[in-house]
Amino acid sequence: MRTSIATVSLSGSLTEKLTAASRAGFDGVEIFENDLLASSLTPEEIRARCADLGLTIDLYQPMRDVEALPEEDFARALRRARHKFELMGRLGADTVLVCSSVSPQALDDDALAAEQLGRLADLAQDHGIRVAYEALAWGRHINTYDHAWRVVEAAGHPSLGTCLDSFHILSRYGDPKDIEGIEDIPGDKIFFLQLADAPLLGMDLLQWSRHYRCFPGQGGFDLAGLLRHVLRAGYTGPLSLEVFNDVFRQSDAGPTAVDARRSLLVLQEQVGIAAPPAPTTPTGVAFAELVTPDAAPVSAVLGALGFARTARHRGKPVDLWQRGDARILVNTGPAERREGTRLAAVGLETPEPGATAHRAEALLAPVLPRRRSPEDAPLEAVAAPDGTELFFCATGHPRLPDWRADFRYVEGAGPAPDDDARWRVDHLSLTQPWHQFDEAVLFHRAVLGLRPQESVDVADPYGLLRSRAVTTDDGAVRIVLTVGAAPVDDTAHAQHIALATDDVVGAARAYRAAGGTLLPIPDNYYADLAARFEFADGELETYQELGILYDRDAQGTFRHCYTHTVGRVFFELVQRDGAYRGYGAPNAPVRLAAQHAARGFTGG
Ligand code: MG
Ligand code: MG
Repeated sequence: MRTSIATVSLSGSLTEKLTAASRAGFDGVEIFENDLLASSLTPEEIRARCADLGLTIDLYQPMRDVEALPEEDFARALRRARHKFELMGRLGADTVLVCSSVSPQALDDDALAAEQLGRLADLAQDHGIRVAYEALAWGRHINTYDHAWRVVEAAGHPSLGTCLDSFHILSRYGDPKDIEGIEDIPGDKIFFLQLADAPLLGMDLLQWSRHYRCFPGQGGFDLAGLLRHVLRAGYTGPLSLEVFNDVFRQSDAGPTAVDARRSLLVLQEQVGIAAPPAPTTPTGVAFAELVTPDAAPVSAVLGALGFARTARHRGKPVDLWQRGDARILVNTGPAERREGTRLAAVGLETPEPGATAHRAEALLAPVLPRRRSPEDAPLEAVAAPDGTELFFCATGHPRLPDWRADFRYVEGAGPAPDDDARWRVDHLSLTQPWHQFDEAVLFHRAVLGLRPQESVDVADPYGLLRSRAVTTDDGAVRIVLTVGAAPVDDTAHAQHIALATDDVVGAARAYRAAGGTLLPIPDNYYADLAARFEFADGELETYQELGILYDRDAQGTFRHCYTHTVGRVFFELVQRDGAYRGYGAPNAPVRLAAQHAARGFTGG
């Protein structure tokens, strides 16, 4: 189906918005009146610009407070309408959105509303324009889609239809049964469909709508359910995004438009009207790659953690460090000194790297050049919204290229140390730019088939962090997406690699014996732990001595501790027992405060 986006959903000038919509692959736009009023282009020039960009103008909006008015007020509304219709003629837009009235003058009189909408439609018809009437969720007398449709039906005018807006419908109707009536509306009388999701918040409808709308799949509404009803009704117009959102107003229009179109592609896939290549969920973490201007500090930490430098890239300054199944690449090639050490790339094991990359590309992820240099194995790779490079790997596959083929084993290093404690990457924590958090969650869910977990707010001494894990069901891949409230500082920017072992106490002791330093945790934390949980003799003292944090839930226990931070990166040692699936969220405020307190602490 054709896709469209309201100019209000994007930031910038009208021409910037149009360019972003076109580049992201939208077929059309809804022109928001304020964007036109603020533009120095004439309506004819806007029309020409849209045509150049391959965009149709699918809707002009909004027109407010028209129906069920005392006659002299309605006469004024018609005068406004005439002016708007003439403008729309110059613009080449043939459908106008009329929102249900919020005016205190409006009367609670459906017959009058239908009669006046009919007269408005007469005038529109003379200009070759169609009127799409939408029930605002906070409309004075008409505020539900079924009520708006009854009025449109009563008017019985060929140039009058209804506009369905998912926010106005789903913000009022929680029960799926309540929206089945959409299928009773004749498809050709649904003149327009606007789609917006929103997080489930208990707040004033207008404030909720104006500030918190988001793209489909990024909130809590069942947009696929709604769209199925609209399609069954026979609607054939565009799928159009109308999203008022404080964050999008401040972020670059280009990436927002791509995020927007990806959300529509995923929604179309959900209802079976688009078929990008099927997802192939990753099965593990092949490697995490750190880029650093100076390998020494991070190598010292890895050495103390018991990693061995087992191999070196044949053509580039990249070392492979390994312990058990945990593999970390340390790359001293492209780093800029001011950026310090950062987690730049992740290798994900996937059953079919080519298929995963094709899906990513179909969902608008930038595909990275397949080879970094002629002798490299041709790995499939894409960029995540935050710029992290995702490599799709088939480590040890008999036929597909193995990324390790680019590495030469270090003389005398021998095979990777294979210890009982089965070291592996437990999770990777990636800090997202503050305006890309919802996009990142949708990207990882849609492109990689990872399942988003609960969103968690964590108090930091100097702000609030929001974090949300996206994981495979078996926990083989866990990525924790974190966003800091602005202004962000270095601690909030930190990324981490969590390493799982079956003996976190032994690992922490060995790390310390090898010269590593662990993040010190205040005694108050352990006094509180003693009150919350029962421990065996000496157990709590051991945790306190090493700075190990502890959590327990109905599924199991979680013990974890932290190294100091190198550049933007620190390591976490974790031990999961039972079926514990979390990340020690109750401990996060203590850890963040300890990291602030330890700023400048560079032991190890
Ligand atoms: Mg709307
Ligand atoms: Mg963690």
